[in-house]
Amino acid sequence: MLQSIEREDTYLHKGLRLKLIELLRNKKITDEKVLAAIDKVPRHFFLDPAFERQAYEDRAFPINADQTISHPYTVAFMTQALQLKKFEKVLEIGTGSAYQACILAEMGIQLFTIERQKELFDFVGKFFVMKRYPNIKRFYGDGFEGLPTYAPFDKIIITAGAPFIPPKLVEQLKPNGIMMVPVGDGGAQKMIKITKDASGNINQEVMGDFSFVPMLQGKNIK
Ligand code: SAH
Repeated sequence: MLQSIEREDTYLHKGLRLKLIELLRNKKITDEKVLAAIDKVPRHFFLDPAFERQAYEDRAFPINADQTISHPYTVAFMTQALQLKKFEKVLEIGTGSAYQACILAEMGIQLFTIERQKELFDFVGKFFVMKRYPNIKRFYGDGFEGLPTYAPFDKIIITAGAPFIPPKLVEQLKPNGIMMVPVGDGGAQKMIKITKDASGNINQEVMGDFSFVPMLQGKNIK
């Protein structure tokens, strides 16, 4: 796939996106800013052209390095739950295709995103869509470590199934911050919303069942 070459966003794609937005509304995505971001970002750009027609169905698809682009519902749900405000500093673990990253960037925040797979990190580096988002800073590294140099963050989003709540990421969350983390092994996770109050106390709330590829320790150089 020639990710450096601009692709077309046709009326057909725009129409399919509007249908997807209706589906998300029916599934209780009510934040108009989140729905506007879904409308703005052509998801088919993030997929192999072979999946172009299905790009706006609510399903996950394979990307490079045996990873997946999350369901649009999952992306919308997590983005909505973060209650983003303009100019907030947000950390994402698992850049993957960068679709979730671009949706977050559309919310007017400043995004720091980490990917552990070198192949995916390099691929996204050549991706033409990234030029539209100077508010996304990408890092190749292990998300369990976070980014101590840029911490603390207003919001943190983990887009891989974590075996446990990463303690260093909780540390890097600001007071009054929110972190969304799917926790569980295998293909089934409980979505946990972590909130830190003004005194630093942690509260956890289970937000439903989701399915992610695993969050793995260390970097992968291949
Ligand atoms: N947000 C992505 C989802 C990709 S799937 C998207 O919208 O496409 C999850 C991603 O998390 C994969 O790319 C995987 O390589 C990455 N990942 C898994 N464990 C990680 C870790 N410890 N640090 C950083 N990235 C990690």
